[in-house]
Amino acid sequence: MSVRYISTRGGPPPRSFSEAALAGLAEDGGLLIPNRIPDVRDRLDRWARLSYPDLAFEVIRLYADLPEDVLRRLIADGVHRFRTPEVTPVVPAGPVHILELFHGPTLAFKDVALQFIGPLFDHLLAQAGQDLNVLVATSGDTGSAAIAGLRGRDRVRIFVMHPRGRVSPIQERQMTTVLDENVFNLAVEGTFDDCQRIMKGLFADVPFKERLRLGAVNSVNWARVLCQIVYYVWSVFRVREATGAGRVQMAVPTGNFGNVLAGYYARRMGLPLDRLILATNENDILTRCFTRGDYSRGEVVPTLSPSMDIQVASNFERYLYYRLGEDPARVREAMAGFEGGGELRLLEGPADILAGRADTDEMLAAIRRYWQEHRTLLDPHTAVGVAVGERLRDPDLPLVCQATAHPAKFPDAIRKATGQDGLARHPLLDAILTGETRRYDLPGEVGAVREFLERNGSGA
Ligand SMILES: *Cc1c(COP(=O)(O)O)cnc(C)c1O
Repeated sequence: MSVRYISTRGGPPPRSFSEAALAGLAEDGGLLIPNRIPDVRDRLDRWARLSYPDLAFEVIRLYADLPEDVLRRLIADGVHRFRTPEVTPVVPAGPVHILELFHGPTLAFKDVALQFIGPLFDHLLAQAGQDLNVLVATSGDTGSAAIAGLRGRDRVRIFVMHPRGRVSPIQERQMTTVLDENVFNLAVEGTFDDCQRIMKGLFADVPFKERLRLGAVNSVNWARVLCQIVYYVWSVFRVREATGAGRVQMAVPTGNFGNVLAGYYARRMGLPLDRLILATNENDILTRCFTRGDYSRGEVVPTLSPSMDIQVASNFERYLYYRLGEDPARVREAMAGFEGGGELRLLEGPADILAGRADTDEMLAAIRRYWQEHRTLLDPHTAVGVAVGERLRDPDLPLVCQATAHPAKFPDAIRKATGQDGLARHPLLDAILTGETRRYDLPGEVGAVREFLERNGSGA
């Protein structure tokens, strides 16, 4: 019997992987999770010898009821746009192993999942004879990765709202230089919060949402979490080969909790993953939660690691479900308390994830140190993970630190840390400095975006 998907809040009946991937959220406001977690301990020795695409096939098929030949084709389609056949190579750097998740088209870890979502959506929509208009609100990185995954797809149009003038010049060009007909960049007046408010407003209008067939690919989409499980398994094998260690620990730079959640699933599947170390910047709601049981909203502080400038971690509810004894009634109660008063206490149960915070100075010091001592350039998100990982690691086990972005995406932080200009370069980024761009400027109002979708959405 293949895995079915249920809501963390217990509402709707179980559904298939295909339905879960296209739906995003459950109708009761909860997140979709697998109704059981497969145990893979008896296959790990065999899996250790597989190539990345073959391993991805074995992991994903445990959770996805797709025909074997289809799944292999979708994976091959996603993997071939990475610049190395290893997809996510592991390289040693001083006292740690760096898991490089930035070899996809936009140089950030979100590509690993979104490059698979593109072919997956095309396939599922073709099967159902449907089209989809995907709406994304981005503060920078998610938008370009979603565009790179969905550009040129037959059955999908993608509409990405970014706050005009408030994303970095590189991020803006990564989005607006993509000229495929199915890509629409909406430069919305206002802040990222305004973009999110517009997105919520449009999704709350159920007749509109259904007529326009609006979809989402944000980090709560189960298919994204699933794709991320693969590189946890992959990297543990690579480090075991390199060191002979039995168990491995991992440090994960964290924002919405999507990435580290995949590690949590991987460990529950039986992967010999010892400490799972969650790292935040000054926006430390998750660190407070795991160290003191205090999950309470704070003000978002802008930092040099902007993809982690998040106070409400949209994937946290999935972890909460397990931590509260897999009891949807308790999840409903806890989330109602949080949404009402902005606060949630999590004191009981095992603290099975370690967490720490690295402020800007510590992050910059880590970049400087790794450059001087190991000739490795860390991007600011990766550096937060390295700083916290070094502090919280078990000294007797190998530590994998995930590199979630290429340093060339964040030249300001590299300059601040090293005092040097032009250290971090990447030909893909040099290439987008010139060339045509396309974007649509819109006022920061739900009505304006709705009208744009009415005019340009497929089937509208
Ligand atoms: C999105 C992102 C993160 C945070 O990942 P979550 O899944 O939201 O925890 C970290 N680093 C980079 C570079 C990112 O783009």
